[in-house]
Amino acid sequence: MKKTIRDLDLAGKRVLIRVDFNVPIVDGDVGDDTRIRASLPTIRYALEHGALVTLASHLGRPKGQHKPELTLAPVASRLSRLLDRPVRFAPDCVGDPALEAVSSAAFGDIVLLENLRFHPGEEANDPTFSRQLASLADCYVNDAFGAAHRAHASTVGIVAFLESAAAGLLMSEELQHLGALLGKPERPFVAILGGSKVSGKLEVLENLLERVDTLLVGGAMAYTFFKARNYPTGTSLVESDLVDATLRIEKIAHDRGVGLELPTDHVVADRLEGGADFETLDVTDEAIGGRMGLDIGPRTSARYADMISRGRTVVWNGPMGVFEIDEFAHGTLSVANAVASSGAMTVIGGGDSIAAVNKAGVANRITHVSTGGGASLEFLGGRTLPGVAALPDLTVT
Ligand code: ADP
Ligand code: MG
Repeated sequence: MKKTIRDLDLAGKRVLIRVDFNVPIVDGDVGDDTRIRASLPTIRYALEHGALVTLASHLGRPKGQHKPELTLAPVASRLSRLLDRPVRFAPDCVGDPALEAVSSAAFGDIVLLENLRFHPGEEANDPTFSRQLASLADCYVNDAFGAAHRAHASTVGIVAFLESAAAGLLMSEELQHLGALLGKPERPFVAILGGSKVSGKLEVLENLLERVDTLLVGGAMAYTFFKARNYPTGTSLVESDLVDATLRIEKIAHDRGVGLELPTDHVVADRLEGGADFETLDVTDEAIGGRMGLDIGPRTSARYADMISRGRTVVWNGPMGVFEIDEFAHGTLSVANAVASSGAMTVIGGGDSIAAVNKAGVANRITHVSTGGGASLEFLGGRTLPGVAALPDLTVT
């Protein structure tokens, strides 16, 4: 068991809380704010116990550069509204702007630091950057389960520079729920994997194959598998450098007796836009031409729904298609409904997947909606998360 924020003495302390505010930004404002709301219990706990609260998060992938469109400023206003109290925004996460924001704040105040990833030191886990962050606080709380699979300055490096560290309430709840699942999942164990980030997920896929009975693949990820089978993929998202990796995955699945399922039909269109002409085709149909595959087809949806309904444990990460556009949302909504109605122990993770179950209106029928996408999958695949390993264990004296 990890030490949690409840084990810290927070009165009169400056606490730096690493949160996961990596939320979708739509037209300069926060889209789905699930991740912000998920961090509120920890923030409120720290405030109620007399701490000066400084919040740090990344947003998107600015790759160590200041990218104005990835500012956390809109998150500060949303957070302020959710908490119904002012939130000071520091225009940089380290250096004078950060030091000034924190030193002019009082106990019971909240400071939100600008995007951590505007500095290359964050992702490089640079000790100098870790020390700069640490200088803003007396103690550290990690509530960013969604970033715990990355060994970065704000999730790992910083711990060495502060007198005490602990898991936040969200982090410890995630570890509890997912830990229960990891221990002894009821079978059949069905995993559903989709979304766009093929590269990030292939490795996870391999780990999951050691645990699950069935793996359903959808979303853009499917097209790299199709490419390997020489199916026509048109202009669909294919990661050419990973084509061989999918063949290895298929072999591992075969050797372990895991059912690895791919779509058999899909929805193709010539533009990624609402109102575009679209058509449903078999995945082997050359008629796709130069068009792109944007959703699983109705036959695949029905087959996946049937397999999901047989599961006793169901884990889902990654939409089946471009669900943000209604024309390409059917597959994802159908899978969301199947998961919700399965009667199984169900876990959904990932920012866009959460947005999808919210769109389907079934979030309250899911056993555990995890704020982590990659992190929850890596955890379920049996990997130790660096951000969790860095936190001290609870020692009973
Ligand atoms: P999560 O945030 O749940 O971990 P990802 O970020 O990996 O999920 O993927 C979500 C994105 O994948 C969505 O924005 C969706 O539009 C996109 N996507 C799904 N299927 C396709 C597809 N066939 N082609 C292009 N993009 C897709
Ligand atoms: Mg995403």
